[in-house]
Amino acid sequence: MESPEGLLRTAHELSRAYLDSLPSRPVALPVTAEELRASLRWPLSGRGVPGETVLLDLAAAVEHGLVATAGGRYFGFVIGGTLPVSIAADWLTSAWDQHGTFFVSSPAASVVEEVVAEWLIDLFGLPEHASCGLVTGCQMANFTALAAARHAVLAGAGWNVEQDGLRNSPEITVVAGAEAHVTIHSALRMLGLGANVLSVPVDPQGRMMTAALEAAVRDLSGPLIVCAQAGNVNSGAFDPIAEIASVVHERGGWLHVDGAFGLWARASSRYRDLAVGIDHADSWATDAHKWLNVPYDCGIVFTAHPAAHRAAMTLDASYLQKSEGAERDSLDWVPDVSRRSRAFVLYATLRTLGRDGVAELIEGCCDRAVELSRLIAHDDRLEVLNDVALNQVLITTRQADGGAAVKAMAAAIQREGEIWLGSTSWRGRAALRVSVSSWMTSADDIRRAADAISRAADAAGIPKSSLENTVVEVS
Ligand SMILES: *Cc1c(COP(=O)(O)O)cnc(C)c1O
Repeated sequence: MESPEGLLRTAHELSRAYLDSLPSRPVALPVTAEELRASLRWPLSGRGVPGETVLLDLAAAVEHGLVATAGGRYFGFVIGGTLPVSIAADWLTSAWDQHGTFFVSSPAASVVEEVVAEWLIDLFGLPEHASCGLVTGCQMANFTALAAARHAVLAGAGWNVEQDGLRNSPEITVVAGAEAHVTIHSALRMLGLGANVLSVPVDPQGRMMTAALEAAVRDLSGPLIVCAQAGNVNSGAFDPIAEIASVVHERGGWLHVDGAFGLWARASSRYRDLAVGIDHADSWATDAHKWLNVPYDCGIVFTAHPAAHRAAMTLDASYLQKSEGAERDSLDWVPDVSRRSRAFVLYATLRTLGRDGVAELIEGCCDRAVELSRLIAHDDRLEVLNDVALNQVLITTRQADGGAAVKAMAAAIQREGEIWLGSTSWRGRAALRVSVSSWMTSADDIRRAADAISRAADAAGIPKSSLENTVVEVS
């Protein structure tokens, strides 16, 4: 085997070159799978190839297929970049290769995870006794939280779901806002709760309407789980969580909050009140790989009911060595058994940023989202569809045939490579979808984005000052 020294040096140099290229490189260029296959698909050799050669070949071969999500001009989905200290801590995590499963398999990973959980609970203002698990992403965080919810509401009805399964169990009513993220539905599906989810209407920003929730649950009795959201994936809007919590708890239900990116608003005194009352929920799911800007993958789940959380996730076998004392075995809190020790990256990132650093990261992105919406208002062909209350901006054209125009604009933007964003549909209108989630996005990147969007309107053939074609807003 080659010594690690040369390989790590090469990895370091290649990483540096990539990171240095982020400010100037196109965000993404059109590339086909066939082109990438042509440079990657070697027959697997018998004797192998020196690692050094492989790393250099790999970096060259993937170059045109890399998407600069780590840079400042990527606005697609809700992605986020990677902070330098997070990348460095991620390298260490790989070198240490800790089996973050039991206390005995890595005492260090176990205790670092404990500390990170305490910091996050404090940062988000969640109940001090909350339980926490680190998972791959918010999908799995939603799954884990809803498994705990399933345990608790059935236990309340005298049923042990871990022991007896769902067949013949008391029926659980599951309620979610009409704008619940798709991963809430897939998590429910994996838990055998996917059928007959009651959908509660939302207001024009996508927020669950409390009166409609009240009406939906008024005549219900029995186990109840309600899924609310902090940060709509399109508009960024927050459900009125304090009001929802009191409706749910009056009926003895469990309130879960999907806060994949929105939970981070709690780290800022400016945005904290968007999620007022969120500490009254029973469980929370969020991501660190989105707004905290750590590398993939890192989702986080919390519950206010550690016993239910543990009961839903724990496992044991004769050959395992679980801790008997107060030590943390991570596998009690997550669906995984063997897993990456994600806590090292969170520890390094949170300690480096501090409270103020996290708040500045969140507020900076929100400021840039507002700035973009202000610049967009200068182009009279375009309009912003949502209240830019957080980091999300939905942009559409005033043209009558907005759908085709928006599609053409997104295609033009993606072809050009100056920025990257996708499209969505918001309350029946097609829109470009912008998420400002990277620490790297600068005021200059926002100007470049606004220019790229205007150029895309030109490319889509939308005439300047085309106000005679305006659609009248339907209220
Ligand atoms: C991104 C997102 C998810 C899913 O998170 P992953 O980390 O991709 O698994 C869930 N809910 C919301 C609101 C999101 O934005």
